[in-house]
Amino acid sequence: MLSASLVRERALEMGFDLVGFAPAGPTPGAERFLAWLSAGHHGQMAYMAREPERRLDPQRVLPGARTVVIVGVSYETLAVPHEILQDPSRGRIARYAWGADYHDVIAPALRAFGEWLAKESRAYVDTGPVLERAWAERCGLGFIGKNTCLIHRKRGSYLFLGAVLVNEELRMEEEIGTARPLSQFSIRNSQFSGCGRCTRCLDACPTHAFPAPGVLDARRCISYLTIELKGSIPVELRPLMGNWVFGCDICQDVCPYVRRFSRPSNSPLAKAFYPPNVERAAPKLLDLLSMDRTTFNARFKGTAIMRAKRRGLIRNACVAAGNWGSDEALPALRRLLDDEEPLVREHAAWAIATIRACAAYTSHAASPM
Ligand code: SF4
Repeated sequence: MLSASLVRERALEMGFDLVGFAPAGPTPGAERFLAWLSAGHHGQMAYMAREPERRLDPQRVLPGARTVVIVGVSYETLAVPHEILQDPSRGRIARYAWGADYHDVIAPALRAFGEWLAKESRAYVDTGPVLERAWAERCGLGFIGKNTCLIHRKRGSYLFLGAVLVNEELRMEEEIGTARPLSQFSIRNSQFSGCGRCTRCLDACPTHAFPAPGVLDARRCISYLTIELKGSIPVELRPLMGNWVFGCDICQDVCPYVRRFSRPSNSPLAKAFYPPNVERAAPKLLDLLSMDRTTFNARFKGTAIMRAKRRGLIRNACVAAGNWGSDEALPALRRLLDDEEPLVREHAAWAIATIRACAAYTSHAASPM
């Protein structure tokens, strides 16, 4: 039986910033997850609804699983000025996608950690049938905030999380140095326990994606709209999306825990996310609107942005260009009216109409009565 201190030491050596573990009982937060699915809040993310029983029971993922181990790596990189990120002529990219694709960085280290932990293990970074945030809370790594993120009280929420299920029981040491089985470890976190009366994330969401604290309607979430949604972005939501072209950080950026405690990691794994590159964090919209497939692949290969594909990223850039409202975008948008992708053509036409309407309104407002 491995001891908690040995597991922690090894996790830190392997480059993880945080590690916690809990007995592999029923998944915490199961009721919340099922209610979220039945309300249809997952939108087109059909994979979330597929075999939900697997997400709710670690035994269905690894028969004989005894422990769930959760690791975290900070992806806070600071260093890109807000004036650049908020420049409407640039498309804004969520912080987690500024560097290398985190799956490529974290998954191999997590698999190696799983092999060290036990004879049998299953390791997942975001793509498996494990509710990482709920387990991270159960493992004592923080609390789930009203914005649905896992918030570590001393590091904030800019954290990549990974899960390993193992068929070994781990031993938890008490502070006085004796040991007790992990299964006797008490759970201290309760829902939104660290939020108190704060509602900054709920108030700041421009698309009103939180129908209630801790409930995210993905269908209105900018992250979902710019990454997961494959079709047309609902017209009524487009003007609310600002310059986001891949993901969104608003509900984390405003969180007092992030503002106060978020800091870059010294871990060797986190080096893959440095140094932050301005053109990755906030590429110029005119560049994005002019990308052909070859340019897109060359520019974003090895990053999480590939998930959106060229057509998705250009669709999003069209929405951001409409919100920018500048004539400068019109030549590139007009070229996109002949794009091979109907999705791109439709969003380019919307952006052109929006810019014209904006210009007409401005000239009307400026003309003497
Ligand atoms: Fe909780 Fe406030 Fe952070 Fe939202 S912004 S997660 S309410 S502490």
